[in-house]
Amino acid sequence: MSSSEILRRLPATLLRRLLPQITLAGGPHETIAVRAPYTGLPIGTIPAGTVADLELAVQRARAAQTPWSKRTFADRARIFLRFHDLLLERQDEVLDLIQWETGKARRHAFEEILDTAIVTRYYARRAQKLLRPRRRKGALPLLTLTRELKSPVGVVGLIVPWNYPLNLAVTDAVPALMAGNAAVLKPDVQTSFTALWAVDLLRQAGLPPDVFSVVTGEGPLLGPALGERVDFMMFTGSTRTGRLVARQAAERLIGCSLELGGKNPMIVLAGADLDAAVYGAIQGCFASAGQVCVSIERIYVHQSIAERFLASLAERTRALKVGASLDYSMEMGSLTAERQLQRVEEHVRDALQKGAVLLAGGRRRPDLGPLFYEPTILASVTEQMQVYAEETFGPVVSVYPFSSEAEAVERANDTRYGLSASIWTRDAAHGARLAQEIRAGNVNVNEAYAAAWGSVDAPSGGRKESGMRARHGAEGILKFTETQTVAVQRLMPVGTPRWMDAAVHARWMTRLLKLLRQW
Ligand code: NAD
Repeated sequence: MSSSEILRRLPATLLRRLLPQITLAGGPHETIAVRAPYTGLPIGTIPAGTVADLELAVQRARAAQTPWSKRTFADRARIFLRFHDLLLERQDEVLDLIQWETGKARRHAFEEILDTAIVTRYYARRAQKLLRPRRRKGALPLLTLTRELKSPVGVVGLIVPWNYPLNLAVTDAVPALMAGNAAVLKPDVQTSFTALWAVDLLRQAGLPPDVFSVVTGEGPLLGPALGERVDFMMFTGSTRTGRLVARQAAERLIGCSLELGGKNPMIVLAGADLDAAVYGAIQGCFASAGQVCVSIERIYVHQSIAERFLASLAERTRALKVGASLDYSMEMGSLTAERQLQRVEEHVRDALQKGAVLLAGGRRRPDLGPLFYEPTILASVTEQMQVYAEETFGPVVSVYPFSSEAEAVERANDTRYGLSASIWTRDAAHGARLAQEIRAGNVNVNEAYAAAWGSVDAPSGGRKESGMRARHGAEGILKFTETQTVAVQRLMPVGTPRWMDAAVHARWMTRLLKLLRQW
């Protein structure tokens, strides 16, 4: 595909469809130009939302939430399953949009389609079971009929970053909405069109408009204003901003769920299948140009195989097809924003100045586009270098040899983050046991990140400074609910009956408690 085809602005018909999906309170709005990373040229403009827009979106969401929560699970599920089907049918349109806004390669954009479809299907099919009322035991047998109920929290605020703009706009919203909440989404400025496309498709699938609305604009203005108005905050982004969201939620005593940064390790054990491990490392380090929260940024390889592993990894990395193309031909795309590119350059420059050794990459590629950077491997990295412990969020990996498994585990755990990790071994059972020693919320054995991430029936969340609570599985929907215990007392009270002497009651109860020890 020639770059002139990539250069064009978003088609007018698409803009006419997407822009009205934004909630606007009226009055003049400034606009923000969105530039395509592939070209650096503006592809469209979005309104810079105001606090009044957010106020309106939350008000409408509140009004829409009660009737929405009264619908049956089956009714809500039908809408999301229709969305699932439409997404698969119309994937090409949104794949273009994701690529225009993020600059990632199409194969990495397709990961968003896969994940969005899988998570949508999962919660459409499972929400009712996960949230069904449950019988619980009362204080004493037979006397109390106790049920635990789940009800929606109300209006959920969603703040998402630019790196997985389809997936992150939809996959937390689906469980929130399936649980009967309404939601207001604030996407990143850079990727608002993809989020609007998803919301438009949900509406085409039958979602009532005010149940899920979008306000576009700057995070430092709209983020706190959203946190001030909603009943729960679902935040995905940097640890720095996550702390602000948590602080505000604590002040208001509302719940929040935080999916934050990582500095994810990969351990290659002595007997690992080298070819598979090298392929896994390429996926893990360079998918979406390393701008994935679960990207591998540190590789620990057993010294007995380090030389062969690194030679093969460097050779495969240098051979990767990097470039701008709206088909599946490229193996890595561009970075998404200038500040991201600057951070990557800074980490590599700092490391090389302090004595690191470059095994592959290490340069900007302006010949390919303004934000391209080569997939890069660094060796001899030390604690003094920024790249050692800070999240780069770009196509840069540091490699370290190790001599014992205990050393590998200790070094993998030597981080303030705890999001994801990967272990490569021919002995899968041993890998799974070793995984339990890694202090990360997701550990993949013989896979870079997709095994744990894609297991959507299991929770996925970060430990330490990588987050709080989790998405996916039961936890990924229960967090959007409040618990209520309804207990109906029968036959006689739990405390002393009116007609009984308190001392007699105490004696009887003591006997009964002894009998009930095994209950
Ligand atoms: P960021 O924190 O700067 O921005 C994320 C979102 O927060 C954006 O929508 C932004 O507009 C908004 N925001 C900005 N200021 C805000 C404020 N004061 N209050 C509320 N919201 C505000 O993050 P980023 O650098 O753009 O995104 C990359 C980071 O996200 C990386 O650290 C990456 O690891 C992390 N991430 C984590 C996950 C995960 O699932 N754990 C997924 C994707 C990305």
